[in-house]
Amino acid sequence: MVYFDNNATTPLDPSVVARMAAFMTENFGNPSSLYPIGRQAKERLNEAREHVARAMGAAKGEIYFTGSGTESDNQALLGVLDAVPDKREFIVSSIEHPAVQETAAYLERRGCRVTTVPVDGTGMIDLDALRNAVTPQTALVSVMHANNEIGTIQPIALIAEIAHEKGALVHTDAVQTFGKIDLDVEELGIDLLTVSSHKIYGPKGVGALYVRKGTPLAPFVHGGHQERGLRAGTENTIGIVGFGEAARILPARMKDDRPRLERLADRLRRGIEERILKIKLNGHPANRIPTTLSCSFLGLEAEAILLGLATREIYVSTGSACSEDAEEVSHVLKAIGLRPEFARSTIRMSLGRFNTDEDIDIALEILPEIVAKLRRISAWDPDEF
Ligand code: PLP
Repeated sequence: MVYFDNNATTPLDPSVVARMAAFMTENFGNPSSLYPIGRQAKERLNEAREHVARAMGAAKGEIYFTGSGTESDNQALLGVLDAVPDKREFIVSSIEHPAVQETAAYLERRGCRVTTVPVDGTGMIDLDALRNAVTPQTALVSVMHANNEIGTIQPIALIAEIAHEKGALVHTDAVQTFGKIDLDVEELGIDLLTVSSHKIYGPKGVGALYVRKGTPLAPFVHGGHQERGLRAGTENTIGIVGFGEAARILPARMKDDRPRLERLADRLRRGIEERILKIKLNGHPANRIPTTLSCSFLGLEAEAILLGLATREIYVSTGSACSEDAEEVSHVLKAIGLRPEFARSTIRMSLGRFNTDEDIDIALEILPEIVAKLRRISAWDPDEF
């Protein structure tokens, strides 16, 4: 199997598996219990918190565990809504993940004013439009750090400066940058930041929200006093311990992974460009996550390429999201102005820690074969594009 869908999820690192397995048998305690196994479970949670905090330059007390990246995004937006009742304006970018986009739509239904700031053809946010949109009534600006489909990295520190000048809080969804590029909450200057365990070789169903000390934030899950009152519900101790281990090994692994994966992604990109006619690479040429390749194969349907590759055990994803019965073009590809027929021909290949040179060799042999075959079947005319 060649797994090129690491932006969707990553395999567990063996060291995470070992840590979780040991914890599963060693401690079943409820971290809220006051006797030893409860206290030990709480200690393990706090160690995990320390590891996650350290991997992003935060203090341990600024990390809150949640059930997913999606929940962290919801918590950030809805938490500000309730904690800052005198401000009713929110700003997001046009390429946010649905976890932010749909929550913003919900805020609008709750009577807030939501401004969506556009991006250019490379996926970079329009900073002038942002400057014009922020007002003293803006409660929160939420712009993702890097986009999951095209990999474009936003100038978050600058965005934070613009928002803070008008007294707005700033959230960034860093699910796709945590573990891929250096991430430091001080350098970014944000107030809230979302990460997710299963994108950094940890288990699924665990996320974290960084909340800068002093940031007003109300809970949106009500119940017990877990996570210092911000997120009720008995903690997913096994998952959190796994997330902690994934974060603990992150700095050392990134040192090895980054140069190697950048070289592999570069080989893949160049190889595709050399072997396949009429393609278009999407995203910013420089400010991007190098391991995210969004490529349009003009004249083809992305699903056909995906399924062709899947029959040869190469796993990628399409750049379009399917709604129940109608096939919809991805809002990200639409936002960067890609023509619908190009958007429909777009696949995303995302590399990760366990990819090898052999994976690239296999993909560079099979992908051109499949594209050529599909274009032959569809009597494709290159002059049309
Ligand atoms: N935000 C971004 C940018 C993502 O890519 C994802 C997952 O694909 C999420 C949020 C959601 O994270 P989770 O799967 O942990 O809910």
